[in-house]
Amino acid sequence: MLAKATKLLLVEDDEDDYILTRDYLEQLSSHVFDIEWISSPEQAIHVLSKNEHDICLLDYRLGASDGLSVLKKAIKNGFCGPIIMLTGQSNDALDSAALDAGAVDYLVKSEMSGSRFARSIRYALARRDVEDERVERLKAEAENRSKDRFLAHLSHELRTPLSSILGYTELLMLSDFNKQAENELGVIYRNGKHLLSLLNDVLDLSKIAVDKLELNLSDVNLDSLMADVFTLMRVSALDKGLSLRFESLAPLPLVVNADDTRLRQILINLINNAIKFTEQGEIVVNAWTEMVVEREMLFFSIKDSGVGIAPEKQALIFKPFEQIADVESRSVGGAGLGLAICSELLSRMQGTISLDSHEGEGSTFTISLYPGNIKKVKRNLLKLDLTPNMQQKTTPCQVTGHVLVVDDLRDLRVLVGHLISSAGADVDYADNGKQALDKVKKQLTERHATYDIIFLDIHMPVMGGKEAAIELRKLGFKGAIIALTAATMKGIRNELTALGFDDMIAKPVDSNLLYQCLESRLGQKAQRISSIPSTAKPNAKIKRFLLVEDDADAAQITQLLLESLDVETTIVTNVEACCTMLKQDSDYDKVLLDMQLPDGSGLELAGFIKEHYPSIKRVIISGLEPDAVHIRQLEIDQVLLKPINLALLNELV
Ligand code: ADP
Repeated sequence: MLAKATKLLLVEDDEDDYILTRDYLEQLSSHVFDIEWISSPEQAIHVLSKNEHDICLLDYRLGASDGLSVLKKAIKNGFCGPIIMLTGQSNDALDSAALDAGAVDYLVKSEMSGSRFARSIRYALARRDVEDERVERLKAEAENRSKDRFLAHLSHELRTPLSSILGYTELLMLSDFNKQAENELGVIYRNGKHLLSLLNDVLDLSKIAVDKLELNLSDVNLDSLMADVFTLMRVSALDKGLSLRFESLAPLPLVVNADDTRLRQILINLINNAIKFTEQGEIVVNAWTEMVVEREMLFFSIKDSGVGIAPEKQALIFKPFEQIADVESRSVGGAGLGLAICSELLSRMQGTISLDSHEGEGSTFTISLYPGNIKKVKRNLLKLDLTPNMQQKTTPCQVTGHVLVVDDLRDLRVLVGHLISSAGADVDYADNGKQALDKVKKQLTERHATYDIIFLDIHMPVMGGKEAAIELRKLGFKGAIIALTAATMKGIRNELTALGFDDMIAKPVDSNLLYQCLESRLGQKAQRISSIPSTAKPNAKIKRFLLVEDDADAAQITQLLLESLDVETTIVTNVEACCTMLKQDSDYDKVLLDMQLPDGSGLELAGFIKEHYPSIKRVIISGLEPDAVHIRQLEIDQVLLKPINLALLNELV
């Protein structure tokens, strides 16, 4: 293929010199030139200002005018390519004047026959290429930055109205109207949730695209990760009457070095797909390790007995947006981004994803990742089962009491909390052992009734379950402490009892076992409580929140949801109104702040409140994750991501 011609402008008032220069240029083997010849200085300035040439050779002497002034004007008018000055005689003063004015080189015409000319042209063009690349890169970076800002903004803008849609729907679903419009409300709710997950996918992918997605590697307990994934997935498997099995073919390392959240996201995505595209049969998840090029890699396979994937589609499904055309005809929702995200995440984990699928028979997705050096890590066989005979739905028992659920994973916390509250107990939540300890400490010092039962996850950041149990007992906590644990090793029960636990419930949490536990511990408690009228929450004082939100719908639904949780909620819509309100009345437990307010930023307002009203807790409500450093600096107590829903607020209250 012929190389693209280099567009060269030759500014020369002497025709003989033009012909000579053209001949020399044609002899240069390194480039093919498309030469345009101009003899008048005015015309040269005009043509150069269009910036259409890759390089310009400019004669120093152009009739009455001189080349130097053409050079200066051309650069001022925006010519970006290299300009080489040509002259009849060597002159040091002219040479440096030309270079100072922006020429890249200064050549005596007699040098054109030698190698110096070729070299000068080559260097000039190479420099132009480097400069072009730099400009392109800066442009792309600027575009990415504005894309980032746009996406951050879009995410916030979309999450706010979504809060209202989901919040109102949730309220209606809880009310009596539900009976008349149960199906319709279900459709709105499911679609709202779906929209939210699409939004999260698009954001994830855009983060990957601009290389903003960083893995957060830490030691991860494989058994509890698998048990958690299983707990979350079993609900949807049960709903479709599918059996879900997880087994390791050989002993697995108990601890691996991985990004906990992202690995969970990948597995959930693949198992979710398997459930989504399977009508009957089973889903089997396997895990094993295998040497790949002298490194021991961790593998998972997710096998379903579902519809399978046509061969022509198999190559496309890992590419984002490839199946847009397919979207309208699809009955099972999805933007087709999940697998693309999995594939990108896995390549960041130094791993791969592959697929083996036959239409009508099912699919097996196999993924691998580098789990760090696991040579010396202890191993164990893992097995989790959800066979069809466990599929009868359980009916909750009826109990009364106050229960604290402590788990760092929000979804799991809410799931377990939901089961407990459906049995009639009041549920409170904590993210980790430290938070649980603080809650109990406060109750004991204020002489409030404490929890009847605390369910403690074992592996949590900040403070794990074992340490928390010891500390709780030291504080004098007398209620039951139950471990939620995936560990099945022999001797674990004795170890836990020695630390102060009363019992353990294995993860994935089986609702039957959970209800049995509640019934045996709260059944007696219920009678005890009923003999002392209305002492369930003796010193309970009505909570008061101040909500600073400028979007009227979002403010109203948050207020309604909070009031359904017995929180007295006052709304103000901007920074100034908030300050005025606090001046009149600062007896609030918490202030909930939207990030972007019409007359200022919620974060700054939070700083102001911390300084002037330190006893009020500050909660930021945001459509996008705020900067962690900023949050720490301002000592924000909590961040809630929109859309806000009842479960989130319940935890907050
Ligand atoms: P989404 O499921 O959100 O559309 P994914 O990227 O997760 O996006 O999946 C892309 C497509 O690949 C799906 O729409 C589906 O057509 C196909 N697919 C994925 N997993 C399976 C599976 N286990 N069985 C059959 N088809 C699947």
